Amino acid sequence: MRNTPPVLLTPGPLTTSLRTRQAMRVDWGSWDERFNALTASVCTQLLDILNGHGTHHCVPLQGSGTFAVEAAIGTLVPRDGKVLVLINGAYGKRLAKICDVLGRAFCTFEAPEDQPITEADLEAMLRADSRITHIALIHCETSTGILNPLPEIADVVARHGKRLIIDAMSSFGALPVDAANIPFDALIAASGKCLEGVPGMGFVFVRKETLEAAAGRSPSLALDLHDQYAYMAKTGQWRFTPPTHVVAALHEALLQYREDGGLPARNARYTANCQTLIKGMVERGLRPFLPPSIQAPIIVTFHAPRDARYQFKDFYERVKAKGFILYPGKLTQVDTFRVGCIGHVDAQGMQAAVDAIGDVLLEMEVVDI
Ligand SMILES: *Cc1c(COP(=O)(O)O)cnc(C)c1O
Repeated sequence: MRNTPPVLLTPGPLTTSLRTRQAMRVDWGSWDERFNALTASVCTQLLDILNGHGTHHCVPLQGSGTFAVEAAIGTLVPRDGKVLVLINGAYGKRLAKICDVLGRAFCTFEAPEDQPITEADLEAMLRADSRITHIALIHCETSTGILNPLPEIADVVARHGKRLIIDAMSSFGALPVDAANIPFDALIAASGKCLEGVPGMGFVFVRKETLEAAAGRSPSLALDLHDQYAYMAKTGQWRFTPPTHVVAALHEALLQYREDGGLPARNARYTANCQTLIKGMVERGLRPFLPPSIQAPIIVTFHAPRDARYQFKDFYERVKAKGFILYPGKLTQVDTFRVGCIGHVDAQGMQAAVDAIGDVLLEMEVVDI
């Protein structure tokens, strides 16, 4: 058995750097001024990445990414609003479920899992239903790795005078989004994805006027982004116990992000990871689920080998024994598995993962791939 921990090739939690993990060795008091400065610095650095200082507030929130999505819908969609949820995978479906649970009126447009949402799809939906006030889009749909055309969708939304809420959970920090060029009301992401922090907090960038107009609207106390923001603006502190170690780790991860060269460097590393992965897997006969033109460099879905000797659980355990953690597929119709390109790993690491996967398929005598 190996005694080094395996590399997580999963889209969060993911592999973090030793420096990021070491930032969690200090216990912080939530009243401590230095901790409040840490939180403020995290928000400033996050707004830097988005180029959003002039237009948007950054509201951090305890919990996993879904908590932040639910907080955004509950706080930003008025009770008489109606959300159009654009769906081409599991995270789009989850967003629609959030609208349903919160009792917000919504409708959906569903594209096949291997096809991006198009401007024409959106135009048709908006023409058919004038009650729609908000559009919700998943930027990179992590259930397949497909990239939806955010700039084009945002243009259509703005032209119709509607408001856009973006779940950019698995893309923020790696794929460019400039708040000065792309009109949106809210963009949601989290600590434990492309910024390579640990999981435990989400954050929502909200257009300043939108947040100010949202007082008292949330049906939830803990997930009220307006209240969270107002309290933090007044006191410098989090409402309720902050995830102190998560904030410290994210702060350290953001320092490294900047030192490494920011978004262009992160994008380049993940792109190289993705290319190394796909090239090596294709050489071994494995087939990516998506064509390259719509594949985001975040996570890649592969068809499972057809061979009866292939079983995901066995495959997973054997690859894990060689030092890499894979991810099961999330598609209902086809048998797949997924490999993440994100986290503290480079192309050399991806090549080692591909080699391990190739060796495991040989060991398992999987020939019909
Ligand atoms: C990770 C992720 C989320 C949040 O999922 P959690 O399990 O709550 O962290 C939401 N949307 C997308 C697209 C994601 O990749």
